[in-house]
Amino acid sequence: MRKILKVDLENQQVVVQPGVINNWVTQAVSGAGFYYAPDPSSQIVCSIGGNVAENSGGVHCLKYGVTTNHVLGLKLVLPDGSIVDIGGEIPEMPGYDLTGVFVGSEGTLGIATEVTLRILKAPESICVLLADFSSIEAAGESVSDIISAGIIPGGMEIMDNISINAVEDVVATGCYPRDAAAILLIEIDGLEVEVATNKQRIADICKQNGARNITTAHDPETRMKIWKGRKAAFAAAGHLSPDYYVQDGVIPRTQMAYVLKEIEGLSEKYGYRIANVFHAGDGNLHPLILYDNSVKGALEKVEELGGEILRLCVKVGGSLSGEHGIGADKKCFMPDMFSEVDLETMQWVRQVFNPKGLANPGKMFPTPKTCGEAARAKVETFKKLEGAEVF
Ligand SMILES: Cc1cc2nc3c(=O)[nH]c(=O)nc-3n(C[C@H](O)[C@H](O)[C@H](O)COP(=O)(O)OP(=O)(O)OC[C@H]3O[C@@H](n4cnc5c(N)ncnc54)[C@H](O)[C@@H]3O)c2cc1C
Repeated sequence: MRKILKVDLENQQVVVQPGVINNWVTQAVSGAGFYYAPDPSSQIVCSIGGNVAENSGGVHCLKYGVTTNHVLGLKLVLPDGSIVDIGGEIPEMPGYDLTGVFVGSEGTLGIATEVTLRILKAPESICVLLADFSSIEAAGESVSDIISAGIIPGGMEIMDNISINAVEDVVATGCYPRDAAAILLIEIDGLEVEVATNKQRIADICKQNGARNITTAHDPETRMKIWKGRKAAFAAAGHLSPDYYVQDGVIPRTQMAYVLKEIEGLSEKYGYRIANVFHAGDGNLHPLILYDNSVKGALEKVEELGGEILRLCVKVGGSLSGEHGIGADKKCFMPDMFSEVDLETMQWVRQVFNPKGLANPGKMFPTPKTCGEAARAKVETFKKLEGAEVF
């Protein structure tokens, strides 16, 4: 299901099948000056169906919103075989926001077979600013200060020293200073005058936080080179160790400096190096725990460390996932974030679409087999719901 079914530039919409790759959408409309805003770093391989299921984010989601803000309508096949249309082509539909319920449901409600997406007009001017810092905390403080100053850049990403060097070894952008503790990449977009003003204000804030150097790029080639390094960071980390484990958690931006310091402490405590490369503007962390899976017991230790990071995110008022979803991997942590009533309510929603649990069974919700005794009490409640009548 890899076809773009309709391009409607006048109404700024495209209709696609779910197997369409994310960046094919922008490629299909860029000639006319449009683009599709949600841009996961995996955008050259990930599908719109997967993006809808995970409510994917990306560099541009700080300013423009995540997938759910760009899905206008869906054609679904429900687990009983019925085909339904939810949402639609007009921006305001009366009734429940079922499109919002489906986006991010991780395939547990049914299968999307057609997706109507909103596309945006490309901005008049774009500039990428690269600031380098001698501490990652200072880069984090800059992010928080920029947003507090009322500036919402197109994107704000942080890479730490380990990621910078991994990228320079593999992609060789030539743009990232290897001796920096962290770099902050900021895309500023909008009207030319707005970009010029915000560029200056952002540079001033970075300098106040101790930025060593600030460079800016307006021309498309240099901008592309700078972003190519960031987008390739996960792949480049594959060259640092035989294996790595990606964690995905969200924190309030104001907690960034504290949480990054804590992660550094956890790295020392467990004896594993952790590379940090993340959507800083959204407070969406991606610690990459570097390890060797051939060492007996290493994976268990790494999973424990990953769990500590997740609990830390929840403790400071954050979340278990920014964009990679809960899936099977994190379902045991759901009770750390949600009350019994929250989880029951989510199960009721699943029951309405998927009463027999056929669609993506075993995802998102804790089960005793995988989560042990701690989740058993919650599961007893869910079991009662499984047998409940669906209205
Ligand atoms: C290197 C790398 C970088 C990444 N960067 C980002 C990032 O910046 N932002 C981000 O959000 N994510 C990121 N991800 C995670 C991932 O790419 C995204 O979550 C992506 O949206 C998943 O799409 P996919 O096509 O790979 O989906 P899959 O992995 O194939 O599927 C994901 C889930 O969606 C369900 N699903 C798939 N299609 C449908 C459908 N049609 N209807 C219902 N359910 C469906 C599947 O059952 C599965 O549960 C990254 C991953 C990698 C490997």
